[in-house]
Amino acid sequence: MKLLEYEAKSLLQSRGIPTPVQGGVVRRPQDLAPALKRVGKGPWVLKAQVLAGGRGKAGGVKIVKTSALAKAALAELLGRKLETHQTAGAALTIREVLIESAAKIERELYFSIVVDRREGLAAVIVSSQGGVEIESTAQERPEAILKLSFDPDSGLPDFKARRLGFFLGLPPERIPAFVSFARSCAKLFCEMDLSLLEVNPLALTPKGLVALDAKVVLDDNALYRHPDFQKKADPEASPAEREAKKAGLSYIGLDGDIGCLVNGAGLAMATMDTIALAGGRPANFLDVGGSADEKRVVEAFRIILRDSKVRGILVNIFGGIVKCDMIASGLLKAMARVKLGVPLVVRLEGTNVEEAKKMLSESELGLVPADGLWDAAQKIVSLSRK
Ligand code: ADP
Ligand code: MG
Repeated sequence: MKLLEYEAKSLLQSRGIPTPVQGGVVRRPQDLAPALKRVGKGPWVLKAQVLAGGRGKAGGVKIVKTSALAKAALAELLGRKLETHQTAGAALTIREVLIESAAKIERELYFSIVVDRREGLAAVIVSSQGGVEIESTAQERPEAILKLSFDPDSGLPDFKARRLGFFLGLPPERIPAFVSFARSCAKLFCEMDLSLLEVNPLALTPKGLVALDAKVVLDDNALYRHPDFQKKADPEASPAEREAKKAGLSYIGLDGDIGCLVNGAGLAMATMDTIALAGGRPANFLDVGGSADEKRVVEAFRIILRDSKVRGILVNIFGGIVKCDMIASGLLKAMARVKLGVPLVVRLEGTNVEEAKKMLSESELGLVPADGLWDAAQKIVSLSRK
């Protein structure tokens, strides 16, 4: 789950990491004056709070010197759509604007912490080219980047933090502040189970080092360890995804038209691939988990059907611990409770599959049994096109 800049900055502040003075987030014009007052003296910066970088270049960051100009800038931002090179052609509506103090920038640096999957460690990445996307620096000036990995269990050691600071060309008197910044960020990264912490730019100012921008991505699989964030709705999740999360199902909406109901993530991915191979396009990834009982199947059908693009559903369930006849009976009860209105192909495999197939073919609910995944995929693709 991604956090907005102001949420990320409040995490940084809670760890004593310097940010510009925050005036808070403004959602209505009348909230501007108190926010400016909270910051104190201008100049101020107004920043569109959307989950995408590249806002500066797209006109989503405005520096103003007077409160009249702040008012005009806010009017320009609120409600407007912002398209940056990171929004993939879409535009995000600006509903929130962060007000903060403008920093006197001497230099802009790049700082981030990522998970280094190859090494199985965390890694700090720094570059002297701040305010610029790290991807373009990596292409154009790879020598301006230094990446150092560290063990999340022991944290970022002093000597590595110092090496990063000297690589950035910081004067010796600035090194202690940088070491403390880098180590606090590393501690935050590990304790909060982040998958990304990016400060771009980290600015060198007369008042010291200041995090001018902040991007934080929390690891969804670790949210249970952070109850405050677990309760928070993921702003990027669709209504169906939110509902699935509440029901404990792994669901990801896609842009095809064949709904998939599968037990096990690996089988769900294989199902999506096979649908594609048969010439169709999956409408979702859905893993109902190990126990595909009636209640979960009903929930799953409801969530799949929220998507109006769905023109057919493929159920692909392997009965290992749970026997196929039990699953078939759950499925039939679920079908009786939910009005499907689209063709349904069912492929079951595993223990007691013969009994299960018999139950399905004897039912009068109109589902189509399949022999094997390939048969199932072909059937649902052809039925959903009728
Ligand atoms: P994005 O990465 O989405 O473009 P940033 O927060 O990095 O947004 O802002 C873009 C640029 O605006 C920064 O590189 C910096 O030069 C400037 N900027 C952002 N916040 C401030 C601030 N508080 N004071 C001064 N300049 C700022
Ligand atoms: Mg930035």
